[in-house]
Amino acid sequence: MTTKIIHFQVNGKLEKAEFGSDCSAEEVTDLFRAAAEAGPHHVLKMYNREGTVMKISPRLEANGRESYYRLEVVASDLQGVAKASDLDDMEHRLQQLEIRVLQDVGGTPDTMSELKSHVDSFKRKLESVEHLSWIGLFKDDNGDQRLAMSPPKPRTPQLSSQEERQKVRRKFLNISSLQVTEEVRELLKTPIFDNWQWEEAEMLVLLQQMFTSLDFLTAFHIELEVLQNFLFEVYCHYNNIPFHNFQHGFCVTQMMYGLIWLTDVRNKLGRTDLFIMLTSALCHDLDHPGCNNVYQINAQTDLALRYNDISPLENHHCAVAFGILAKPECNILKNVSSEQYRHIRGGMIKCILATDMARHNEILNRFRSIQSVFDFSNKEHKEVLMNILLKVSDISNEARPMAVAEQWLDCLLQEFFNQSDTEKQKGLPVSPFMDRDKVSKPSSQTSFIRFVLLPLFSELIKLFPCLEQHILEPVRTALEYYSVMEEASRDEEAPTKP
Ligand SMILES: [Zn+2]
Repeated sequence: MTTKIIHFQVNGKLEKAEFGSDCSAEEVTDLFRAAAEAGPHHVLKMYNREGTVMKISPRLEANGRESYYRLEVVASDLQGVAKASDLDDMEHRLQQLEIRVLQDVGGTPDTMSELKSHVDSFKRKLESVEHLSWIGLFKDDNGDQRLAMSPPKPRTPQLSSQEERQKVRRKFLNISSLQVTEEVRELLKTPIFDNWQWEEAEMLVLLQQMFTSLDFLTAFHIELEVLQNFLFEVYCHYNNIPFHNFQHGFCVTQMMYGLIWLTDVRNKLGRTDLFIMLTSALCHDLDHPGCNNVYQINAQTDLALRYNDISPLENHHCAVAFGILAKPECNILKNVSSEQYRHIRGGMIKCILATDMARHNEILNRFRSIQSVFDFSNKEHKEVLMNILLKVSDISNEARPMAVAEQWLDCLLQEFFNQSDTEKQKGLPVSPFMDRDKVSKPSSQTSFIRFVLLPLFSELIKLFPCLEQHILEPVRTALEYYSVMEEASRDEEAPTKP
């Protein structure tokens, strides 16, 4: 029996593997899997110096230290059940079929809905594997060490983001002329709306529905095609990150839309103010990079430099929004007077900049001071209210049904953990509420609900008592739920403590 020595680089380190020629293929794979700290469903690829893929097997050719191979974790395999590309293809065919059936029959038959939900649930399973890698169960698929390496790792889904977006655009335009059902139109006006049921192209149609039903197209002479271009560009300018993504932008807009319908601001504020509120909600996190202002400032990022450490993210979101509006084909403001444009621009800037949580107390205190003498004809009062409504919408996930809200919390923690991992890697200060070693779901929520949500929501409800059942009650329920969980985890820990 001969022993083989393989030199290889993995995660930026040079390693050496030794195995006998009588080793099984499985043993050899396991050896490299362990070296790469890969989970059982990850796919490993070994490259030689020329970048050619080498088969990982007992027959792998021995090499010298200078001619080391490169080992990479390239994808999650899901035990070969199906690949994302198969799924995309299946989905595409299903969409085509659905459009044909909708044209012929005018509705989606049950069997097709069933098939759709199978595809969706499988898609979610695929995503949840990715999700596990985020929270650290397996090695993170986005490890920095891979950034500089070639060939680049194929991502799941395997379409490039460009192709993926064009697919969304095609589907959006295909289905945009279909009527949104009465039931969905009503749901859209409430916090119980479940965003997780809808895919991106459908959300774009729902956004179009919101703009249309508030009469914005007539009031501001917006052509439907321009609105569609604008909505699609907004979608394209949200990043594929765990929390501050297009779905979040959609949810905040939908909550704002709900607040507009549930309260009487629809009649008390002007059409322009409503437009400012809804459009600001939609644009308020554009191009969010996934790390907060504290990180931007500590890491001295381009954004922090550009905006002198003053709300770098919010300034950027707003600038990106007006960058989109500067494209003639997306400019939903092109037919308003220059005075109206200035008013809308000023309003959107104020609203979006107000979403910086560092200014939370300042804005809440301003609202508190005018709340008892609130006057809808006072310009300043209205401005503070608009800021408050956007702030409420922005952090309103806990006002949603538990099943919807809890998924959002997972997404938020993923993004936080991701930031704190980067901070640790770069030797920057780490915020304790983002540290995966210190944070638990219940503890993060109870203090957030007690000290941030309840005071803010209660203040708004003094002005609109009708909102109590819609946003305050669910938040109280969530607080109870997380308090019980927190209590239980404390009991579990107690005996082990000295
Ligand atoms: Zn936000």
